[in-house]
Amino acid sequence: MTKLVFLGTGGGRFSTIYQIRATGGLYLMDGVNMHIDPGPSAAHQMHCVDLDPAKTDAVLVSHCHPDHYTDAEVMIEGMSRGGLKKRGTLLASRSVLEGSQLHGPAISNYHRSLLDRIEMASPGGSTEIDGVKVRFTSTRHSDPTGVGFSIETRDGLVSYVSDTELDERVAREQEGSRLLILPLTRPWGARIPNHLCTEDALEFVKAVKPEMAILTHFGAKLIHAGAEKQASMIEKGTGVRTVAAHDLMSVQLGKVIRIHRSGS
Ligand SMILES: [Zn+2]
Ligand SMILES: [Zn+2]
Repeated sequence: MTKLVFLGTGGGRFSTIYQIRATGGLYLMDGVNMHIDPGPSAAHQMHCVDLDPAKTDAVLVSHCHPDHYTDAEVMIEGMSRGGLKKRGTLLASRSVLEGSQLHGPAISNYHRSLLDRIEMASPGGSTEIDGVKVRFTSTRHSDPTGVGFSIETRDGLVSYVSDTELDERVAREQEGSRLLILPLTRPWGARIPNHLCTEDALEFVKAVKPEMAILTHFGAKLIHAGAEKQASMIEKGTGVRTVAAHDLMSVQLGKVIRIHRSGS
């Protein structure tokens, strides 16, 4: 059974600076263990739910903003057993690996040397991690080299969209998702460039029609407005079950999708 743990549900500058919600990323276990977007607090959050970084097989970094990458080197040290064993895979955007305009690079040569495999994630591409296919999807964001990750788990397609504006092509690339994980930064009526607000997320969910949508990456204003309230607006407008994630919430994908509110 595929299992996911939300190690953080905050996103954007102020949520991250003040840790109003944690920003540790998403952990996916499907025979292979993947840590997606380990931002600030990832190591601490792993400790809180007894997840062992030494058992992670791959670190995936969608783009080069601090709420997505700052704990990546720590997690690479974990995968490589403190640097004693060359081990693990890193999949990351061009900005994270090589640098792009104002962004990155974000992984030191030392940490690169600890890894077994490093692959650049570009939209339209794909790869496999121990037999699990990962597709790289497009985003429209202030890091133009950013990607989303669509993972073909044994329990269906799980799509982690990553930071983006509402865009027809981005939505189209998530088609067939059983679980759609959407970054909702702003509440209803408070759109800013490069991110989704609630009315945009509603259109996104309507276009993809997943079995379930899970919202995460909440900005400070959205947290103040109430994440559950935004989720119920989306659910009402789309007919798709929509959940506002909580820190350390876990999800089990079997015949049905089960949500556990906290802990593993
Ligand atoms: Zn972000
Ligand atoms: Zn971003």
